[in-house]
Amino acid sequence: MLSLNTPIESISKLQKPQIAALKKLGLLNVQDLLLHFPYRYLDFSQVKQIKDLKPDEPASIKVTIKSISSRFSFRGRMSLAEAVVSDDTGSIKIIWFNQPYLAKSLSPGEEIFLAGTPEYYNFKLQLTNPIYEKASDFPIHTSRLVPIYHLKDGIYPKTFRNLVAEALPLVDELAETLPKDILENQKLPNLSDTVRYSHFPNGQIQVETARKRLAFEEIFINQLLAQKHKIEIAKRKSFAIKFDDNLIKTFIASLPFVLTAEQKKSTWQILQDLEKSTPMNRLLEGDVGSGKTLVALIAALQCAADGYQVALLAPTEILAHQHFETARKYLFGSKFKVGLLSNNYSVVDGEEIKKTTLSKLIAEGMPGIYIGTHALLQKNIKFKKLALVIIDEQHRFGVEQRSNLMNLKGKVPHLLSLSATPIPRTLQLAYYGELDISQIKEKPLGRKPITTKLVENQNRPKAYKFIGDQVKLGRQIFVVTPLIEESDKTGLKSAKKEQENLQKLFPELKIGLLHGKMKGADKEAIMAEFLANRVQILVATSVVEVGVDVPNASVMVIEGAERFGLAQLHQFRGRVGRAEHQSFCFLFSDNQNPETTARLQAFTKTGDGFALAELDLKQRGFGELYGASQSGWNFKYFNPSYIALIQPARQEAIKILQIDFNLNNYPILKEKIKDKVIHFE
Ligand code: ADP
Ligand code: MG
Repeated sequence: MLSLNTPIESISKLQKPQIAALKKLGLLNVQDLLLHFPYRYLDFSQVKQIKDLKPDEPASIKVTIKSISSRFSFRGRMSLAEAVVSDDTGSIKIIWFNQPYLAKSLSPGEEIFLAGTPEYYNFKLQLTNPIYEKASDFPIHTSRLVPIYHLKDGIYPKTFRNLVAEALPLVDELAETLPKDILENQKLPNLSDTVRYSHFPNGQIQVETARKRLAFEEIFINQLLAQKHKIEIAKRKSFAIKFDDNLIKTFIASLPFVLTAEQKKSTWQILQDLEKSTPMNRLLEGDVGSGKTLVALIAALQCAADGYQVALLAPTEILAHQHFETARKYLFGSKFKVGLLSNNYSVVDGEEIKKTTLSKLIAEGMPGIYIGTHALLQKNIKFKKLALVIIDEQHRFGVEQRSNLMNLKGKVPHLLSLSATPIPRTLQLAYYGELDISQIKEKPLGRKPITTKLVENQNRPKAYKFIGDQVKLGRQIFVVTPLIEESDKTGLKSAKKEQENLQKLFPELKIGLLHGKMKGADKEAIMAEFLANRVQILVATSVVEVGVDVPNASVMVIEGAERFGLAQLHQFRGRVGRAEHQSFCFLFSDNQNPETTARLQAFTKTGDGFALAELDLKQRGFGELYGASQSGWNFKYFNPSYIALIQPARQEAIKILQIDFNLNNYPILKEKIKDKVIHFE
């Protein structure tokens, strides 16, 4: 007898390779099998009579085998089983390739179900490779919506379906994961029904009912975690940083430009948060080039000038370096330190310093702004007076990581995340539920919109001539190449090829190559060359972070543009147009498919990252949202079609936490969120 806890090894009819395949899927016992849901269904729910079969219309039939035999065809290379089956209305020929054993396991006179899509062969309808099963009252593989699962080599779909069907009576023993009143309020099925409906639905409505419940559960857990985090943070203490009007005004006046209205507003919101003794938990969202770094630096300046320490974490060494240069440029002459903790060296105020010496000074509480990659906080550097953590392009920062930063009398630093990932407004709660949000939607004054063109192949020479002319004007060029071959995982091959190609076209120019496999120091070296205009054209793979500021670059060329989501194309495009020069983005694509062309044309017509993200979401779903995976949430069931579930899920989460913050009465929920700490990669 099976029970929910029966380990799969103890299921007697499973053989070793099958057990191994199930384990690879993380399925260790019967309960796991039941909770491994199909991702789609084949619709063989129409049970027809033979006379009603139509070509290309999937159907099931209930028939009697008249004859069955096997033979070899194609000069003996392929075995095939051939049968004739009939019902009261007629008969039809069946062919199975490479399943010779069928001729032995099925015999004339037997009643079976077959499911497949009839086709004409020699002017007669025929079924090729239909699924078969013995006729019964509860067909599993035919005569229904047939569940299709993600499986691994070693286990057949049929075997898996049989296993689930065998375990199905146990669904009533599954422990319900959602509180009863939530199920009632939201009119959702309980877990047992959800599992039943998922595996063996009696129709599309049951499929959708089950999917909705799974999506709701996922977004509910997400909101529970987000709200819990939010409340937890609000209970902690942080450093109240006095807003020094004079300091900030003087700094802003010293800049070579005026802040945009939204930069000012965001700065103001952040400085107000910093004044509170509860930790700030804010996301500063703004399109590439909208000037987030500067806003963050003002916050950093306020903290450092007040005698505290600030950690600024960038996703890559290149960006850390760049932030360091920016901070030094603007904050030169301040009474606090500006330091860079690179993998290879460390610098304070422009002078190299031993890492251990710097760590020691930081541990002693030397006020300043310390810049590094995200690894900075894991490197045993103990900040004594860390008041503000700024995280560039990394959305999630867990409760635990934050607790690790608690230093001065149990206080928690303020947190500011910067993100250029345009998450559609409709999804913001799902991604950033626990954060307050500041947005910079406008670009600094004087930025000209980037001229974007989808270049037809015959106009390539023209585009290259244009590029040459831009270089003559003193400008520089980015070229991004896509991943083309499976085997070329880093995209290095296609980037190298492009570099060679361009070198032939422009023998007199220096053409650099930037890719993900390069060592940090090498990347920095080539970026420095590019920044100094000793390299005129930089070919980069898409896997490499091009989140760099090279104001002199005026052309972004994107090869294989159809391979990127719109939001990601937009990120690439944001690398140019960062100074006064009119800038250009050229898309090349070999794909002539009208839909692709329309998508890329749409991209050429809008410069609004959020609009593009909405469009991506509509056209291609979640997966294409650049950065969505970085958010730490990999939704399995929740998708954009369930946006309407976010609000109710959030309400239910808040309601539960108000009554029982520690979820002591909800052990299952407690367990569920326990292993789901918000990521910090
Ligand atoms: P983001 O991080 O939002 O992509 P950055 O902070 O790197 O953008 O800013 C892009 C460029 O714009 C930088 O060179 C920065 O010095 C400049 N910049 C920032 N704010 C303004 C402004 N208000 N006016 C003009 N230039 C600005
Ligand atoms: Mg930036």
